[in-house]
Amino acid sequence: MLAQRTNLFGSSGTAAARAAAKAAADAGREIIDLTAGEIWSGLASTIRDGAIDAINKGINRYTDTIGMMELREAVARKVSLDTGQSWKADEIAMTSGAKQALFNAAMVLLNPGDEVIIPAPYWTTFPAQVLISGGKPVFVDTRSNGYVPPIENIRAAVTDRTRAIVVNTPNNPTGAVYDVPTLIGIAELAINRNLWIISDECYGEFVHGHHTHHHVVSVGPEVRSRTLVVNAFSKSLALTGWRIGYLAGPKEVINAAKALQSHTTSNPNVIAQHAVLAHLQRGNGSYESRLRSQLASARQVGLKVLSSLTRIPVPAAQGGFYFYLDLSDLLRPTLMSGADATADEVINSLLAEAGVAAVSGTAFGDPVGLRLSYGIPPEKLEAGLRRLVEVLNAWQ
Ligand code: PLP
Repeated sequence: MLAQRTNLFGSSGTAAARAAAKAAADAGREIIDLTAGEIWSGLASTIRDGAIDAINKGINRYTDTIGMMELREAVARKVSLDTGQSWKADEIAMTSGAKQALFNAAMVLLNPGDEVIIPAPYWTTFPAQVLISGGKPVFVDTRSNGYVPPIENIRAAVTDRTRAIVVNTPNNPTGAVYDVPTLIGIAELAINRNLWIISDECYGEFVHGHHTHHHVVSVGPEVRSRTLVVNAFSKSLALTGWRIGYLAGPKEVINAAKALQSHTTSNPNVIAQHAVLAHLQRGNGSYESRLRSQLASARQVGLKVLSSLTRIPVPAAQGGFYFYLDLSDLLRPTLMSGADATADEVINSLLAEAGVAAVSGTAFGDPVGLRLSYGIPPEKLEAGLRRLVEVLNAWQ
């Protein structure tokens, strides 16, 4: 009945985990939900005021398909500051979240059968969008290298059909932050093999400890003409529901993305555009600092509890707001007995026994991984992780 295309994707694994948590909560259980890909926080006052002003002015019309010129100029200034390079408004397209920026990128770059290299574990939407666009995801396993793709493995995965490499640092789900040599290696490879780089930097505001977020276009400026930077205000301003993201890249790509977007969603929500513009014009950085320190202290609380895990290494959690657990030691005895245990079983037990919801690594192409979000209130986080540690330490 449905188009064959529908066989290429299911609803996202993270959405399924959230749904399971909600079903358990609706059934009357007290659930601590560590599945969220968003931060628990109030609105920045600049965002709230910007939106209210726009409503009070009666703003209600379409904007340019890829966003108001003033907003694109403000974002171009932001990207210029972030990357240390000069960007112009005609290199920026505003989108309904980073998801649409990525989708536009895949649709305008990929021909049928084109291969896209995606480091795994991966955020589940990357391969889904490549498939929908007619491309073929090719995975490079990062697990033996601290979740950073070894450059020789990326090189080995390149074929004559390779069209692009996805770079997602800080990484969802693993929290890995790519080092400069890795990014330089990717940049060199992209130039030598004539590839695009799709650089998803949605978590760039959140790096912890001594780590720094490096932009591929800053460490290798010569890749600027073959790089699409994808970002959003969803995570950095805790605005997931407002749906404002952007694509930054060469003009021809932006124009093609604009044409595509003119036939899909048109402009992102106009009130949200005004709100983000007001924030970019009047924000003084204090909201972002508060968000960062909230996450830094949640991370500390979480790591302290997780340090009591007996058969699972404490996660590095270098960036973003996820703890990514490697369950290979925990699952090994079951694997050896021939049973097909994966993190899915662990997730089910956690929900059933501890009332804790988490996302299985199977959603990210890693059957022995488990993702926990720490973007939730600290008391809940601590209680949830304590219950989780109890269940995992007793795992047979
Ligand atoms: N990119 C990554 C790596 C993400 O983790 C997410 C959301 O979880 C997105 C993009 C999508 O962001 P948005 O909500 O702005 O579409």
